[in-house]
Amino acid sequence: MTATDITTTSAAALGEALRAGELSSVEVTRAYLDRIAATDETIGAYLHVDAEAAVESAEAIDAARARGEELGPLAGVPLALKDVVVTEGVPTTSGSKILEGWRPPYDATLAARLKAAGTVLLGKTNMDEFAMGSSTENSAYRVTRNPWDTDRIPGGSSGGSSAAVAAGLAPWAIGTDTGGSIRQPAAVTGLVGHKPTYGSVSRYGLIAFSSSLDQAGPMTRTVLDAALLHEAIAGHDPLDSTSIDAPVPVLAEAARRGAGGDLAGLRVGVVTELGGEGHTDGYEPGVLARVAEAVALLEGMGAEVRQVSCPAFDLALPAYYLIAPSEASSNLARFDGVRYGLRVGDDGSRDLDEVMALTREQGFGPEVKRRIILGTYALSSGYYEAYYGQAQKVRTLITRNFTTAWDDVDVLVSPTSPTVAWSIGARVDDPIAMYAADLCTLPASLAGIPAISVPCGLSEGLPVGFQIMAPALADDRCYRVAAALEAAQDAARGRALLTGIGSKENAPS
Ligand code: GLN
Repeated sequence: MTATDITTTSAAALGEALRAGELSSVEVTRAYLDRIAATDETIGAYLHVDAEAAVESAEAIDAARARGEELGPLAGVPLALKDVVVTEGVPTTSGSKILEGWRPPYDATLAARLKAAGTVLLGKTNMDEFAMGSSTENSAYRVTRNPWDTDRIPGGSSGGSSAAVAAGLAPWAIGTDTGGSIRQPAAVTGLVGHKPTYGSVSRYGLIAFSSSLDQAGPMTRTVLDAALLHEAIAGHDPLDSTSIDAPVPVLAEAARRGAGGDLAGLRVGVVTELGGEGHTDGYEPGVLARVAEAVALLEGMGAEVRQVSCPAFDLALPAYYLIAPSEASSNLARFDGVRYGLRVGDDGSRDLDEVMALTREQGFGPEVKRRIILGTYALSSGYYEAYYGQAQKVRTLITRNFTTAWDDVDVLVSPTSPTVAWSIGARVDDPIAMYAADLCTLPASLAGIPAISVPCGLSEGLPVGFQIMAPALADDRCYRVAAALEAAQDAARGRALLTGIGSKENAPS
């Protein structure tokens, strides 16, 4: 394989080539590091890359293989982690100035599992500060560009991870999704992104945004890659009190089966409220056209398609934007200038409260402050019932809409995002327009169910994502259907992927 082959192939194929001895982990890791050195100044996917440490861990894996040690399927494959994932000794900022310079003393459970699986950490990826945003423009550090068109956003909040994988700067990456932050960036960069069932991937060591919603998951070039990476991080963790004590789901097998293209008898519901009749406001016609084509492909493979109405979904946006900021206002209280990172004004002339206030004033960006104020207000006495309480009731209604739907269908589908990637800067002064990007992803988040975004073609030359939602713990169904769709449009998808990686100034040399 040439360096370009290495940086454009799937992680599963890299794993196989490593196992067969056709490639060494050092070769693979260096190919990625070289490409990062050559193009990440333009893309801005990473906040931190430690080339030396990456090569060292690749050497260790190669040596273990040479000794004949039993290694897992991911061993030697490099990877990128969103900077919200705590990594021992490796700078972790969550995209915020308030954590600048912090080197955590421990690994998040998922980071530890990926280390134990023999993956090589390339670096930590850029993100909206504390995962609040849909464009990665809320990062305190840098702009990240969409490899398909570098004047456009890569989605958010996991925009560093999406840009890295789409630009060939990592074979795959971990993102986190609170209201859509894995699925939407995957959609607008032509990747697969899966938000697991709430509680099925440990949150231990993920810097908390909204604890009842946060989940980590894979962002990859293929459905099989997503399933493999998901299996590696899933499973019960006693360190996370909301972790589900159930066996690791069988996902790669579901993806392989799905790729066979037989969906006979599968009942698919198209959600009316997410871009259907009477609900097309804000949806681009090109997005709706690609989604309709994907639905037709599913039908062609034997699926039975019907419309499903979920009326409470119309209220998902206001409910989410009360619940998530409320939890964030409480979670972010720990950043006080005493325990971690930044401390401002501690010169002996000020008391603790003043130092705390100055630190938070300078350490948090405007969107984070907006959410803290919103959340504190919604939780304050006298308003709690009117805002937070009402939002929780809406959350219950949304969950009930799903429960009712599962009587009639096996999966629900929709666009992942109402639009393709927009221009950098276009929505920064309009928070409501920014929040509208989450219209389709929020219901699954609020209900805690799994949802995957899989590429379904291009509109105006930019990727469109197709969302597949399934009942809690039926993540395998998302993978099966996504793999079938991927196989059905494989030729087109292969072209799209290469166009993305090879576009404009990011063309591999
Ligand atoms: N865009 C949503 C928000 O800003 C979702 C973010 C996320 O999933 N982390 O809150």
